[in-house]
Amino acid sequence: MKRIILHIDVNSAFLSWSAIKLLEEGYSKDIRDEISVIAGDPKKRHGVIVAASIPAKKIGIKPPINLFEAKKKCKNLIVVSPDYNFYSKKSKELMCFLKSLFSDVEQYSVDECFVDYTGFRKLYGNEVDFAYKLKDEIYKRFKFTVNIGIGNNKLSAKMASDFEKPNKVHTLYLNEFKEKVWGMDISNLFMAGKASCKKLRELNINKIGELASADLNMLIRNLKSQGKLLYEYANGIDNSEINSSSYEDKKGIGFSRTLEYDMDDKDEIYKYLYYFSKDISKELREKNIYASTLVITIRNNEFKTYNHQQKYLNGINLANDIYEKAKELFNQTWNKEPIRLIGLRVSELSDSNHFQLSIFDEITDNVEEEKIQNIIDKINNNYGKEIINRGNKKTNNN
Ligand SMILES: [Mg+2]
Repeated sequence: MKRIILHIDVNSAFLSWSAIKLLEEGYSKDIRDEISVIAGDPKKRHGVIVAASIPAKKIGIKPPINLFEAKKKCKNLIVVSPDYNFYSKKSKELMCFLKSLFSDVEQYSVDECFVDYTGFRKLYGNEVDFAYKLKDEIYKRFKFTVNIGIGNNKLSAKMASDFEKPNKVHTLYLNEFKEKVWGMDISNLFMAGKASCKKLRELNINKIGELASADLNMLIRNLKSQGKLLYEYANGIDNSEINSSSYEDKKGIGFSRTLEYDMDDKDEIYKYLYYFSKDISKELREKNIYASTLVITIRNNEFKTYNHQQKYLNGINLANDIYEKAKELFNQTWNKEPIRLIGLRVSELSDSNHFQLSIFDEITDNVEEEKIQNIIDKINNNYGKEIINRGNKKTNNN
């Protein structure tokens, strides 16, 4: 039996989620309908745009152009700072809802996931009818729109959800691959990064269909394993399983984010590590547990993924501690190439911090710091949002 896979992808996630937050706070406009952007630091002239509204994209404002260039295109551009805590809350709400419907949900990034629908056909009926219902239900519950792609594997589902946005359902079954995909430019093929596309064009391969019928050995000679992968993808071949434990498994706590464009600015990447460290620390301390291994994940713009991990003698659970170690690990791993996805995870969790092995000074320091962090968490929890933060002595990006 052919598998049926759904790919659910939030439309302009950061922008949609910020729009919801602003509306909740009483802002009169829905920034999804305005020329608006989410930008790293609006005070900086050259701030990085991480998301743009559809009206903004229509006039050419989209990553990777910076804020300065964007403002030249529209004087009244609405600029909103990102709120990653709010985004991760919205992301969790959606994933929780989907996990209540399906046994296997693979979160692929903060705003997208795969679901194996094959066994659920009996329960929920035809996948296309269901996808329309699901899309509308998500909007009703959470007030943001999604695209749902339906295919016979993860690759085709993901490509289908990318077709036309927003608020759409598309199918890309294997028998539709030729008709729907082969006429497209190779840059639309999943995993075909800039460098691979350049090489393929040099080989006079411009369309996905041309890649699908190219000589495999020639592709392997020129693009190595990436050549084989892209050849298979162009032919709709992808046998990878839904991996429901890859994003956040029982053994560890982690976060990752697919970046809106290829990032090679260390300071920008540090910001993500900082937010991840804070969220990981919060979860560890809520459960009163410690982690002794830290894993950093980097996916480059060629979609190659590197993991690098480090074990520590003493358990860690404090945000600053995790952040400092994450930076160290990042610097050991990163070879300065543009980054598409960054992730941070802790594992080997236990309820003891093994501080008996450590020198006494460090113990008292950490116990004090932990007390302070727990108090901050309590206050923030009582108010339902983050009103207190640690001083920024370690949040700057040195
Ligand atoms: Mg999305």
